[in-house]
Amino acid sequence: MVGTLIKTEQKQEHLWHALNRFNPETRPMVVSHGEGAWFTAESGEKYFDGVSGLWCLNLGHGQKEIVEAAANTMMNLSYSPLTLSHQPAIDLSAKISETLGASYKTFFANSGSEANETAFKIARQYHKQNGNPEKYKIISRYRAYHGTTLGALSATAQANRRMKYDPGVPGFLHVVPPYSYRCMFDKGGEGSDLIAADMLEQTIVWEGEETVAAVIMEPIISGGGVLVPSPKYLQRVQAICEKYDVLLIMDEVVSGFGRTGKMFGFMHSEGVQPDIVTMAKGLTSGYLPLGATAVQSYIYEKFKGDDQHDHFRHVSTYGGHPASCAVALKNIEIIEREQIVDRVEKLGNQILDRLRQLENLPYVGECRRAGFLCGIELVENKLTKAPASDEKVDFVIQECKKKGIIIGKNGDTVPGYSNVLIIAPPLISKEEDLQWVVDVVTEAIQKLV
Ligand code: PMP
Repeated sequence: MVGTLIKTEQKQEHLWHALNRFNPETRPMVVSHGEGAWFTAESGEKYFDGVSGLWCLNLGHGQKEIVEAAANTMMNLSYSPLTLSHQPAIDLSAKISETLGASYKTFFANSGSEANETAFKIARQYHKQNGNPEKYKIISRYRAYHGTTLGALSATAQANRRMKYDPGVPGFLHVVPPYSYRCMFDKGGEGSDLIAADMLEQTIVWEGEETVAAVIMEPIISGGGVLVPSPKYLQRVQAICEKYDVLLIMDEVVSGFGRTGKMFGFMHSEGVQPDIVTMAKGLTSGYLPLGATAVQSYIYEKFKGDDQHDHFRHVSTYGGHPASCAVALKNIEIIEREQIVDRVEKLGNQILDRLRQLENLPYVGECRRAGFLCGIELVENKLTKAPASDEKVDFVIQECKKKGIIIGKNGDTVPGYSNVLIIAPPLISKEEDLQWVVDVVTEAIQKLV
């Protein structure tokens, strides 16, 4: 056993881990086994996964039906490109359209980043073929994360994450997010969210409406610190987009498939129906890679012109792999059959909402939550709202880890502002585990001095 461990350590030196500086002290733990919302490290320690892997393991480990769907599909059809067609992709595209509540056509890729890249290219080409060739700019919001490839990173407005790779792709701009806790106009609440929407409108006007192709946003900024806007914000954004013929791209990579207590995050805002919806993560609950870009049918119509160059000149070898599509279909079937979305809403309100009481503690500025997506903003001083130091934030994370719970924080957002603890447990987490997570996080924050 000791020999095996040493060998693993030696070999691990060849693995370039994500978001890590590899050195022996911070060696990422080797995860060997998972069950439900829990995983076991090679060392034998067991952890409750309070961030669902990377916010994706929504149905937890060991869903036998999903594994069988993958294996059966691979045995039957190991691969087929989507220049041809296959049944799992056909069925999944129809299911996605039904789930989104309007007529959508879906293009498949392998990840959230790719799904967003696909959306940007569709938006630009759509306007070119709709008589508005000057419309190319894509607007996103500060603190947003939209992916890791250069286009998606250009839409990502997190200074620390971008600084080594800038300049990004031309034509991407950013506006303020709805963030009532730190509203620069000191309004707070819904009023400040609506000002953020008005600033989007101003930006479109000042940039020249004839130059703006699309706005991309998550319904709730997740990795950028769990910023939960009032439902009216998205309604106003949609109205602005319609007014200026700007496509509204909804990044549902994190928020899709039940995470926020609705099937999709935009469904918290009545009447909102995005032009384009991008998905990944919860689409397969992380069992296999898959990204999807669903566009309303009227957009697709513009790709059917007689000119041979009018079709979408875009392909992904593995996008929409038969096994990934079969996994996604089974994943959605389980979400519906087990009424996971209702469960998230109910247990979120009953159990995770207790986290709001933390706002009475000296270092807690604000607790924000939607479904099983929670953000606890730590501050040094409740009056000045100065962000808590990295030491304080990391202390809480380490205290939870010592008790066997993995929680996260908004990583590389803005210099000095990695001060939001993030809890996003699997949607199948047991009630007693959720209660325990709230207790442990509370105790850890109470220890801050
Ligand atoms: N959009 C959002 C909102 C995300 O959180 C992420 C991933 N964390 C992405 C896009 C990119 O997804 P992927 O890592 O699958 O490329």
